[in-house]
Amino acid sequence: MSSDPVVRAEIVVDLAAVRANVRALAAHTRTPLMVVVKADAYGHGLLPVARAARAAGASWLGAATLEEALALREAGDTGPVLTWLFVPGEPRLTDAVAAGIDVTAHSAEGLDAVAEAVRRSGTPARLQLKIDTGLSRNGCAPEDWAGLVERARDGERAGTWRVTGVWSHLACSDEPDHPANVAQLVAFEDALAVATEHGLAPEVRHLANSAAAIISPETRFDLVRVGIAAYGLDPAPGHTPDLGLRPAMTARAALAHVKRVPAGAGVSYGHSWVADRPTTLGLVPVGYGDGVPRHAGNHAQVDVGGKHCPVRGRVCMDQLVVEVPDGHGAVGDEVVLFGAAPHPTAQDWAEACGTISYEIVTRIGGRFGRRWVGQEDE
Ligand SMILES: *Cc1c(COP(=O)(O)O)cnc(C)c1O
Repeated sequence: MSSDPVVRAEIVVDLAAVRANVRALAAHTRTPLMVVVKADAYGHGLLPVARAARAAGASWLGAATLEEALALREAGDTGPVLTWLFVPGEPRLTDAVAAGIDVTAHSAEGLDAVAEAVRRSGTPARLQLKIDTGLSRNGCAPEDWAGLVERARDGERAGTWRVTGVWSHLACSDEPDHPANVAQLVAFEDALAVATEHGLAPEVRHLANSAAAIISPETRFDLVRVGIAAYGLDPAPGHTPDLGLRPAMTARAALAHVKRVPAGAGVSYGHSWVADRPTTLGLVPVGYGDGVPRHAGNHAQVDVGGKHCPVRGRVCMDQLVVEVPDGHGAVGDEVVLFGAAPHPTAQDWAEACGTISYEIVTRIGGRFGRRWVGQEDE
């Protein structure tokens, strides 16, 4: 008998898969990679993933917030790091500049905030400029771009910062035929030309996320910013070649209870599913309090002992119920909610829940334990 302690629910992240994915993406794109580790590395764990990405050759790491970028430095990462989301006035901008993190500005207020951080830290900033080429999220509007570039150039000449990059972000890269892709590429090239005319010579020009990096070579420029593909999930299902990417995350639990119910038994709150015949049900001890989407109710499937078993009824805060084949499934059996095929995947869950795989892996957590396997020194 195994003496392994029973684990109620845990997320297992395979860092060997992350390394293999990063290497596969580098080989396919033949372009330096920025591995995007925002949102706790899409739920996979900021620091372990950052180390795996660097070990596999990622030249850059990308973070949304200042806190994420600073956590990388605090853990000893000394390589290029880009952050792109601060609110002018956030005190930690000074720390980010002092730590040699590349910060992104897309407005006059942003430049003012970076200049103030430079004054406080006594360190020239590494500054990247972001142009809005059509996502209409952050990024400098094209009509303000020349003015922003001039100010950035003046600051560079004054020694306030070095403009290390110019970049933008795509809206529809997972739909390769969408006309916005070409329009954004043209707008980006125009913005680069304006930057050059005004005397900027950035080290890196970058536009592509995972989908564009994989599908559209013309978007690769000097650097590609890959997030979801590094975690082994497909950024554009139906449009990508098979690169052999492997999902790094497995969400697993142990069956807490198994029972037979008679025909006519309603399952879970609201009785949204009713057994039409005597049925065996398994209780999985995780719910929306652990980031399992409530939309999975009556839609997603889990794997119990190699068999795909449908979720029956609504997902509760702490529990969900699955139907298991009669005679199959015992208390303590492993339940894989999602992982690598032939298990259901995060992509399967996304389709069942009407969302994208990004949201499935990023939001799972709560009371799941988390451990990492496949460390390089193992
Ligand atoms: C999240 C993000 C990425 C990564 O996108 P994926 O589709 O996961 O590859 C790249 N760039 C920016 C600015 C992002 O916010």
